This record gives sequence, structure tokens and C-alpha cells, in this order.
Amino acid sequence: MEEYEYEELLDRALRQVPSAKATDSRFTIPELKVFIEGKATIFDNFEAICSYMNREPEHVMKFLLNELGTAGKMEGYRAIFQGQFSKDDVEHQIQRYMDEYVLCWECKKPDTHFVKMERVWALKCDACGAIRPIIKRK
Ligand SMILES: [Zn+2]
Repeated sequence: MEEYEYEELLDRALRQVPSAKATDSRFTIPELKVFIEGKATIFDNFEAICSYMNREPEHVMKFLLNELGTAGKMEGYRAIFQGQFSKDDVEHQIQRYMDEYVLCWECKKPDTHFVKMERVWALKCDACGAIRPIIKRK
């Protein structure tokens, strides 16, 4: 009898998992518009992606240039990189940027912001309060 109750509890607990997981779905960004033009790569909706991530375009740009190992510039709402990169290349770096600078490592929500603690920068989550140090590139 006791065992039956335990199984029933377990069963009930397991049934609650899908609904709990639904709110935990990974933050996704709109599709990147990336195309090659001559010897350059155009990231056409760069600014839109930055505002979607709620991050300064300058910071995102520095990260991308550093990680792609190239030079480039912002021109209006676009980013232009020297050299040819595929959409997957750029998307991979944006995903890495999000993992490092946007998504909370605890709850995976994007509701975070940078805070300065002593002499280091940290990423603070507004949703759950988690905080972790980051390397904020200059
Ligand atoms: Zn969080």
C-alpha cells in the first residue's frame, strides 16, 4: 500500500515535468541575414539581433571581429566583415556570445545585464538573481 502511494507520487511528479520544461525553453534569436558580397560578408540584420539580445552593437561587434579573426565595420544597421564567412560561422559566434554575455547560466533566461563588481564585470540575472563574472573585452 505504501509502495503504491510512493509510485503514485512519483508518477504525479513525472507528469509535472513537461509543463515545467516548457517555460524553460531555450531563448532563440531571429534568423540571421548573412550574405557574401564580393570579398566581404554582410550581416544585414546585425543591429536587430543586438537589440533583440539587448546588448550594445559595439560590444557584439568587437566580439565578432575578435572571434572571426577579421576586420570590419558597422554601417547603419549592418555589420560588414572582411573576408567570406557563412551564415553558420556568424551564427555560431552569436550563439557563443549569448552563452557568454546574455544567457543566465542558472536559469538560461536572457533577462540579464552587466554589473561592475569591484574591478571585474559580472553578468547579473534579473529573473533569478544569479551572478557570474565575465570577461568584458575592451
Ligand atoms: Zn537566471
